[in-house]
Amino acid sequence: MALVNEHFLKLPNNYLFADIAKKVNAFKTVHPKTDVISLGIGDVTQPLCPAVVEAMHKATDEMATMQSFRGYGPEQGYDFLRDAILKNEFLPRSIHLDRDEIFISDGAKSDTGNFQELIRWDNSIAVTDPIYPVYIDSNAMIGRAGIKTEDGHWSNVIYLPCTAENGFVPALPQQRVDVIYLCYPNNPTGTTLTRNELKRWVQYAQKNDALIFFDAAYEAYIQHDDIPHSIYEIKGARKVAIEFHSYSKTAGFTGLRCGYTVVPKEVTVSTLTGERLPLNPLWNRRQCTKFNGTSYISQRAAEATYTTEGQQQIRQTIDYYMQNARRMKQALKGIGLQVYGGDDAPYLWVQTPEHMTSWRFFEQLLYNAHVVCTPGVGFGPSGEGYVRLTAFGSHERTEEALERILRFY
Ligand SMILES: *Cc1c(COP(=O)(O)O)cnc(C)c1O
Repeated sequence: MALVNEHFLKLPNNYLFADIAKKVNAFKTVHPKTDVISLGIGDVTQPLCPAVVEAMHKATDEMATMQSFRGYGPEQGYDFLRDAILKNEFLPRSIHLDRDEIFISDGAKSDTGNFQELIRWDNSIAVTDPIYPVYIDSNAMIGRAGIKTEDGHWSNVIYLPCTAENGFVPALPQQRVDVIYLCYPNNPTGTTLTRNELKRWVQYAQKNDALIFFDAAYEAYIQHDDIPHSIYEIKGARKVAIEFHSYSKTAGFTGLRCGYTVVPKEVTVSTLTGERLPLNPLWNRRQCTKFNGTSYISQRAAEATYTTEGQQQIRQTIDYYMQNARRMKQALKGIGLQVYGGDDAPYLWVQTPEHMTSWRFFEQLLYNAHVVCTPGVGFGPSGEGYVRLTAFGSHERTEEALERILRFY
């Protein structure tokens, strides 16, 4: 008899986006002719840029002849991509990393979900709230999160609320924690931390011997100079932080798959007897055992984002989305809504009017404006009273959605 990993049974089986789809479908059944616009999508919509497509065609042709065919690649990723990352992402910010501190992945979701395997089940974890659900759920799967209580909190997780009251800047934990998940620019709130605010977290980690898992999936959307693109811009971070990157939102790779994780050699963890061990060789070992590399074609595609044309083309697409974000923020503020984020991220975090619940406001927007948003409470207890809107739509559909919302209010 095979016994189930009971921790999986603790995960709630109602998934946020399935619940949303159910409610949207219920609406469409009753109003089959109504055109519904989604501002809830967490996926990009613009196609891959020409430089990337060209690189993929070329890589495909290479795979077609025996001389240039590539089979299994290095589990850590090809040197051409690791070197392009060092040269284009880190050196311009005066961050000096070695090639073997960069691990190419098939995206940041897998790595942010898997990295917790390297630490014992009884470490304490802290998360900002609201939060990208992967961080908690992956910890729940090995029993580290405890159980989910009635009020939506996991019993063993330390929550750091981010709300309008604290300007979406989480307070340092009252107690010592072992691991802290930070994601900036943030999904879902679209807010950021300044260099000084992030510095406090690095100092906390140094003082408390804690690890920071830093998700930088949206760094390409940053528009302001005082917001760090990488936690390694902060002195001392290379001793305490692991950083996750993705080409998904940067270059539209959500369907293509490529990302990378930075594991500096100085980051160490402790044995029960107090011996310090670097995480870098452990992650290398984990990847060599469980991961067989990202496809050659995807890695050539990622490399192409660093060419002059590639850089210019992906920048154009990000500007396109950020133009939506600006329009949305301006229009929604114009009708008196409290709107956060959207300045350095493709997400807007909108406070519901008159203390309505997230789901109530979701339904109001759906039934009155025929616009779909994402209820904030789905991202954690502190998301109650907010909804998330995304800037990933087309200009035309975004404008139309705004007009409908404006007409209703
Ligand atoms: C979209 C997103 C990612 C990227 O995930 P991929 O697996 O690389 O597509 C990572 N973190 C957050 C918070 C995201 O929203």
